[in-house]
Amino acid sequence: MVIVKRKELSLAEKLYLPEVVRGLSVTFRKMFEKPITRQYPEEPLEKTEVTRGQPRLVVKEDDSIACVSCGLCEAACPAYAITIDGGETDRAIEREPKRFDIDMLRCILCGFCEEACPKDAIFMSDELELADYSREALIYNIEKLKRPQAALQQRIDYVKKINTRWQTPSST
Ligand code: SF4
Ligand code: SF4
Repeated sequence: MVIVKRKELSLAEKLYLPEVVRGLSVTFRKMFEKPITRQYPEEPLEKTEVTRGQPRLVVKEDDSIACVSCGLCEAACPAYAITIDGGETDRAIEREPKRFDIDMLRCILCGFCEEACPKDAIFMSDELELADYSREALIYNIEKLKRPQAALQQRIDYVKKINTRWQTPSST
């Protein structure tokens, strides 16, 4: 049998005084440092081209959406948040979505839909706030997803810029 000799604790150690003093010294030091707490929502987060908020459908200048209901974003979505029903049109673009829903409670803002879209029809907006009174209200349909191109232009330009890294010199 091995007997482990334990150090005899002093009275101060038994009362956790060294830890208390160390903890209070940290608290005291922090009291005089500049606070880093953000008073949200009065102090909102800074939004930049890199901000990946909720996905939105681009509305072009002729008031139509660029989506041709190919379903690639639906297939790419890892959260199964997108539901699309395609339909025919009489326009040059023969297909458009009759139904395009994104369940915002499922969406994890990953941006895969943006990357998958071959028509530049869906982009990540800088809209981060999400609140409502029912689950149904947070399933966004086409009308709730539409945003004018100008509102998404900063993100569109950024995505186009970073995508040039995949282009070979001959394809530019
Ligand atoms: S951002 Fe990601 S999770 Fe959200 S709809 Fe697009 S692919 Fe799905
Ligand atoms: S948003 Fe893009 S990827 Fe999704 S269905 Fe429309 S065209 Fe296809």
